[in-house]
Amino acid sequence: MDPARCLPVENPTVPFWHRDIHELHDYRTTEDLPASSDVVIIGAGYAGISTAYHLVKEEAGDSKTKLSVTILEARGVCSGATGRNGGHLRPDMYSPMPKFIDRAGIERAVEVSEFEVAHIKAIKSLVEREKIDCDFTLTRSIDVWCNEEDALKAKEKYDMLVSHNLEYIKDVFFVLGKDAEGISGVKGTRACASFTAATLWPYKLILHLTKSILETGMVNLQTHTPVKAVTRQTSGGFIISTARGATFARKVVYANNAYVSGLLPQYSQAIVPCKGFCTHISVQGGTRPPLLNNSYIVRDTDGVVSYLIPRADGSIVVGGANLKYRPFLKQWYNNVDDSILIDEVKDYYDGYMQRTFHGWEDSGAKVDKSWTGVMGYSWDSLPHVGALPGEDDQYVLAGFNGHGMPVVFLSALGVAKMVRDGVAFEDIGVPRLFQTTRERLEKVKNGPAGGDIIVKDA
Ligand SMILES: Cc1cc2nc3c(=O)[nH]c(=O)nc-3n(C[C@H](O)[C@H](O)[C@H](O)COP(=O)(O)OP(=O)(O)OC[C@H]3O[C@@H](n4cnc5c(N)ncnc54)[C@H](O)[C@@H]3O)c2cc1C
Repeated sequence: MDPARCLPVENPTVPFWHRDIHELHDYRTTEDLPASSDVVIIGAGYAGISTAYHLVKEEAGDSKTKLSVTILEARGVCSGATGRNGGHLRPDMYSPMPKFIDRAGIERAVEVSEFEVAHIKAIKSLVEREKIDCDFTLTRSIDVWCNEEDALKAKEKYDMLVSHNLEYIKDVFFVLGKDAEGISGVKGTRACASFTAATLWPYKLILHLTKSILETGMVNLQTHTPVKAVTRQTSGGFIISTARGATFARKVVYANNAYVSGLLPQYSQAIVPCKGFCTHISVQGGTRPPLLNNSYIVRDTDGVVSYLIPRADGSIVVGGANLKYRPFLKQWYNNVDDSILIDEVKDYYDGYMQRTFHGWEDSGAKVDKSWTGVMGYSWDSLPHVGALPGEDDQYVLAGFNGHGMPVVFLSALGVAKMVRDGVAFEDIGVPRLFQTTRERLEKVKNGPAGGDIIVKDA
């Protein structure tokens, strides 16, 4: 994609989560951009707001330095992928593990899973500490396989991980065969696995954090301010040019995820904007269906994958189905237009609960909201976190795929430690496989177009 076109569009589809728009959604701390700041963060999604949170709320370390931080956001706060996702905070403990083990060995692969698992506790304690009203629910997530062959392969993966005697895998309960359907409640289940996960209202979480960081007086938020270019000054620091004028910063953090190549063309093959699809289903007028107490990943007999969370009011957020639109590259791949739904699946979730879950046949469950969002799909399925290769004072955290909720918050803590206290990547507590390196960027150039992106399933 031409970098100049890699910017959020102005009229995106409206997600369920934006039902009640927060007073800070379109906020600007000052009428004009500040002349200068210690740190400019580009993007006010989960990554940008979490980085600011760690920078100004002391979690990054012992440093008592008071930094000035400016956040520049192209649209409103949390209007990118974070504001349009499935609300599922679910560590992926086994699906990608064989691939990561092959690439880097068991020790590095396990770092990724443990990091994801650690997010459950980290977000739970954040929500409790900050008293965040965001429907946070600690739950069991059930992975379901309806295809016999996929079920057997999943069991093989699980057994392989068990054989390594990993601590975190002890939380996974795997069932293959006749009892799986009764446990999952999904018609035709051949195998299922449950483990600890969480669900939440992402927009409420991010807007609460936004309020909290603005209250420190250290953060200047500028919404509807797309960044056009970042230019290093020979005397040090950077001029950040926006649609509303320029500002100066000593350090820059790129937290603009899917759109990162718009400002950093060296990432154009490593992180590609790809659209995803999600819906909200409510129950209207039929017989009351069973309340779901778990979140889900459902893989149907054809291998179509859906992520699903129940809400306490009985409604459902469900999305995915990318196997259905994968062949139609133009509709989703290298595409930042979240103003239009993905044609191929726009009706896919009509009747989904009735055809998928026992007891929902006469529920009258109906899709009442559909939306799309743009994810930063990374070529090797791993995010890019850390200092820009070969550059001082510029940092990135992007490429979180369709799986940012159990990955971003502690990555942002790590980046904040680098920015504020100059801590080396090796010491920030982020998996080594996430480090953005020249080697990873080079590998993309020499590898097949699309890399893992084209084959990814959720
Ligand atoms: C439909 C869908 C469903 C998903 N479901 C889940 C799920 O259930 N669980 C899960 O773990 N993950 C899910 N994800 C992925 C998850 O939402 C992302 O990985 C995560 O939100 C990434 O956060 P972020 O802050 O990096 O990106 P974003 O939230 O996209 O934030 C980036 C921000 O940068 C801004 N920006 C971009 N360019 C510029 C610029 N030049 N100047 C200024 N601002 C700019 C954007 O407007 C945006 O607000 C889903 C994603 C989608 C789209």
